[in-house]
Amino acid sequence: MTNRLGSSNPNRIPKITKTKSKKINLDKEKDIKSLIKHALKAQSNSKSKYSNFAVGCSLLCEDGTIIYGTNIESAVYPSTLCAERVAIYSALSQGYSNFKAIAIVSDNAAKPCGSCRQIIYEYLGDIPIYISDSKGSKHSTHIIKDLLPYPFG
Ligand SMILES: [Zn+2]
Repeated sequence: MTNRLGSSNPNRIPKITKTKSKKINLDKEKDIKSLIKHALKAQSNSKSKYSNFAVGCSLLCEDGTIIYGTNIESAVYPSTLCAERVAIYSALSQGYSNFKAIAIVSDNAAKPCGSCRQIIYEYLGDIPIYISDSKGSKHSTHIIKDLLPYPFG
C-alpha cells in the first residue's frame, strides 16, 4: 500500500531534488561560474509562459548544498513567485539557515525585485549575490546593503 506521495512507508521523507557540492570555493572565479551554471540549470525549469521571462537561482548553503529556484507563474498573477524566493523558501523549509552565496540569472541580468531584496536581507544576510545574464559568461557581484540600503524592519 502506498501513500499519496508514492511511498510505501508513511514515515519516509520523500527525496528532495538538490545538488551538493563541497568543492565550491568562492575565492575562485571558476567556482563562482559553477554556481552560476547551477542557476542556469534552474532557469531551464522556469514556468514563465505569461511573461516569457525565465529566471534561475542557485543558493549555496553553508554545507555545500545548492538549492535551486526558478520563477513560477500562475494564471492568477499574484500567485506567481520569483526564483529567488522559491529558492530561499525551499532552503528554509528544508532546515537550512546559513548560506554562503546566491546566483541569479536572467536574459538581461535583472536585479532582484523589491520583495526578494527584503527576503534576501532578512534571511541571507551579507552574502555575495552574483547576477549574470543567460549566457553565464560574465557576472556582477553585489551585497544586499547596496541593493536595499533601507530595508523594512
Ligand atoms: Zn522577486
